[in-house]
Amino acid sequence: MTAPLLRPNTLELIGNTPLALLKGPSEAAGCEIYGKCEYANPGASVKDRAALWIVRDAERRGDLKPGGTIVEGTAGNTGIGLALVGNALGYKTVIVMPETQSREKMDTLRALGAELVLVPAAPYSNPGHFVHTSRRLAEETAGAVWANQFDNTANRKAHIESTAPELWEQLDGRIDGFTCAAGTGGTIAGVGMGLKAFDENITIALTDPFGAALYNYYAHGELKAEGSSVAEGIGQGRITANLEGAPIDTQFRISDEEGLEWVRRLLKEEGLCLGLSSGINVAGAVALGRQLVAEGREKPRVATILADTGFRYLSSLYNREWLEAKNLPVFDWLKD
Ligand code: PMP
Repeated sequence: MTAPLLRPNTLELIGNTPLALLKGPSEAAGCEIYGKCEYANPGASVKDRAALWIVRDAERRGDLKPGGTIVEGTAGNTGIGLALVGNALGYKTVIVMPETQSREKMDTLRALGAELVLVPAAPYSNPGHFVHTSRRLAEETAGAVWANQFDNTANRKAHIESTAPELWEQLDGRIDGFTCAAGTGGTIAGVGMGLKAFDENITIALTDPFGAALYNYYAHGELKAEGSSVAEGIGQGRITANLEGAPIDTQFRISDEEGLEWVRRLLKEEGLCLGLSSGINVAGAVALGRQLVAEGREKPRVATILADTGFRYLSSLYNREWLEAKNLPVFDWLKD
């Protein structure tokens, strides 16, 4: 066991997250399934990486100057990352998010010192959508930059330059497959591109929740959504700039029930408290592992992303009334 490295400044606490072999998923798939513990970032999600790369890129381009403001439309985790990175570098942060997001995310953003602007949930085609609202706010604010995580490819660059090389190194260059779901698409595209640069035979799979359009796009060339999902932070209806050119070899579609079952098992059997996108990612990794085994790959190793902490969802995923209202199975220990 190596001792954690001393980091010369707190921003270097972003990334270099541990990778854990997941026992239950590995048994279910008949191969090795690994989870990248992105909840171990300072903001407790995978989005800290994108936040840091976006801010550094804006500084390099000269768009963000000392005392400036970062504006973003976000389901929450990117906002948390931007607020922390902003604090560390002396920038103000203004976050626009749909009012349907979890209470914990809103409380967290306020607690971190971000200015929070809540807007009603609206389709992307509506000018009131949180992404468009954030762009307008950035344009109207002096000294402000719009982080634009969906179409700013500094987002996926974070994963090309950090997450992918970390996975490659942690697995000693022996990795057969990678999968995760897409929100902006930065993680799947960036890790996919980064890993393919090491070895183009690594299979990259998109794991899509219901209610998103990417499964049909990669399977049939048609952006078409079916069903719905309560998972926050994932589920995309268009090809964002980050998704353009993503090396997707295959795709799976995972239900909330299946994702939730892995959330339950990972908590009860392996002591990990995760959000639903992580459960959906793990279900996708099991599906990919089984596919690689069926294709005859020798003892394949598949990695996925444990995207954020379950502590962020105490009033939803881990709350009996909320689960019942959504017609989702209630964890046994929440029943009495
Ligand atoms: N899981 C969670 C919990 C998230 O907040 C996000 C980011 N929206 C994702 C997964 C997806 O990551 P990406 O934006 O890189 O596709």
